[in-house]
Amino acid sequence: MCGIVGILAERPVAGLLVDSLRRLEYRGYDSAGVAVLDGGKISVERASGKISALAEKLKGHDFPGTVGIAHTRWATHGAPTVENAHPHVSYDGKFAVVHNGIIENYAALKAKLQSEGVEFKSETDTEVIAHLL
Ligand code: GLU
Repeated sequence: MCGIVGILAERPVAGLLVDSLRRLEYRGYDSAGVAVLDGGKISVERASGKISALAEKLKGHDFPGTVGIAHTRWATHGAPTVENAHPHVSYDGKFAVVHNGIIENYAALKAKLQSEGVEFKSETDTEVIAHLL
């Protein structure tokens, strides 16, 4: 079962997002990720496995943004890989999405988006939401 966090603060949120995900760890998950908005640019970091793996990856980056979202995933569509971990970003880089559940008609939506030239980077149902936005 996945966990979702969103934070808007007056200080950088990347660490707060990871701490919040740790509080949701009891729900079970297979991968985790964060997206942080800074000056109109979305930065994403994701990891398969433990939240500690995500925290380790974040150590190497400066994420000064004060708005962010985070997710622990329990895969339904696509293997528990980094590529399939949330957040997923729209083709134009304007939106990042985390999602809990299943999009029943994702295959039809994906086919339509692909016919319009959108390139998918994951096997998830969730990615269609980012591109549709
Ligand atoms: N269906 C989505 C996926 O497989 C969300 C799974 C979840 O609820 O964590 O990525």
